[in-house]
Amino acid sequence: MKHVIIGNGPAGVVAAETLRKNDPGASITLIGEEPEPPYSRMALPYLMMGDIDEAGTYLRKDAGHFARLAIDLVRDRVDAVDTAKRSVRLKSGKSVPYDRLLIASGAHAIKPGIPGMDVAGVHACWTMEDARRIIARAVPGSRVLQIGAGFIGCIIMEALKSRGVQLTVVEMGDRMVPRMMTPAAGAMIRRWCEREGVTVHVGARVTAIRRAEGREALVATLDSGREIDAETLIVAAGVRPNVDFLAGSGIACENGVSIDATMQTNIAGVYAAGDVAAALDFATGVRGMNAIQPNAVEQARVAALNMAGRRAESHGSMALNVLDTLGLVSSSFGQWSGVAGGQSVELVDDDAFRYLCLQFSDDVLIGATAIGLTEGVGVLRGLIEGRVRLGPWKDRLLAEPLRFPDAYLARAQAAA
Ligand SMILES: Cc1cc2nc3c(=O)[nH]c(=O)nc-3n(C[C@H](O)[C@H](O)[C@H](O)COP(=O)(O)OP(=O)(O)OC[C@H]3O[C@@H](n4cnc5c(N)ncnc54)[C@H](O)[C@@H]3O)c2cc1C
Repeated sequence: MKHVIIGNGPAGVVAAETLRKNDPGASITLIGEEPEPPYSRMALPYLMMGDIDEAGTYLRKDAGHFARLAIDLVRDRVDAVDTAKRSVRLKSGKSVPYDRLLIASGAHAIKPGIPGMDVAGVHACWTMEDARRIIARAVPGSRVLQIGAGFIGCIIMEALKSRGVQLTVVEMGDRMVPRMMTPAAGAMIRRWCEREGVTVHVGARVTAIRRAEGREALVATLDSGREIDAETLIVAAGVRPNVDFLAGSGIACENGVSIDATMQTNIAGVYAAGDVAAALDFATGVRGMNAIQPNAVEQARVAALNMAGRRAESHGSMALNVLDTLGLVSSSFGQWSGVAGGQSVELVDDDAFRYLCLQFSDDVLIGATAIGLTEGVGVLRGLIEGRVRLGPWKDRLLAEPLRFPDAYLARAQAAA
């Protein structure tokens, strides 16, 4: 059996290891186009902070790890997949045949169509190479302008601040982290960032970037006409799945590679996992991308078990976002913005930077948003994932939302 995996990020690596464990005699080829050994993008902020060196970002620290597992690491780019001939074509011109194929090619940072995006000093923060460039430019006292205050944007703010830069953030949504946080939660995160010395503009767009005349600086123009000077501009405006090389392969894609509960695509023997995959959402049943590492790894494990002939299914991916923004921990789970006809309760403590919003459908907790509550948030996840019927506890939670751990003990554990 020949297993070929496209992409050597967390999904590709975990799939290769799971395959080796469950299919000891198979041939396993792991193809990645970046020059580094397999590494974790999640670790890049720690590299930028100086907490770790590049080797600290490697997914497996032992240089002989893949050779020992007889996993063939190939450094090349897959340019095309021929599902009729069951082979992938590499940029180097070679073809690699497969019996089972896993697409784990991840995503790339979106480059907004803003005039001036190609000017020197404008970078994404997605790859090791991006991190190296940012480290070289974002020196103490320099000015950094970040476009986007979403999940990745908030995560990298701490790394940038720790480099001693003057940080300005421009977010086109009406609040920070608009796709993960309620309006009140986004506003609280903004207030926290401003307290930490970050200048934040929400509801604002960068419309043009140019080099300043006679000065070593970039100038970003906002839609209000305001101009902001910076030495470095970082674009954190979202990600898109890497599916370009699948054109003409017959593999169905819609906002990512469409997969079923076993991670198989519409083509038998071809699977997908991680940021590239559009998996079924646990709550809505709608396919979508959920670009976080725990999802990537879990999907990879399920895909690899099926590739090895052992049936496994995922019960669907769930929105599960935990963010540390300059030390303020926030999280949102499931259908955090609620559903039509549902009920909700919101608790806001502006002085203490604490926040909780619970969303219900009938007597089931379907989503939650929290700030400053680090203990017990796993319980919220458990209630949502378990679709626990709360009975009389729903009204109690509407009156006293912080009692969710008691509700869990009373309902979920009692049922178990
Ligand atoms: C700065 C930063 C911080 C993050 N922090 C968090 C966090 O705190 N928590 C969290 O859950 N997630 C975080 N993420 C997101 C997380 O890193 C991703 O969800 C995770 O990397 C997805 O893993 P993956 O294996 O699907 O994709 P990737 O890690 O993107 O790996 C895919 C690999 O495939 C390669 N590839 C792509 N196309 C081809 C091709 N045609 N041929 C060959 N190789 C190809 C790519 O070069 C890449 O190496 C962060 C991301 C960034 C950038």
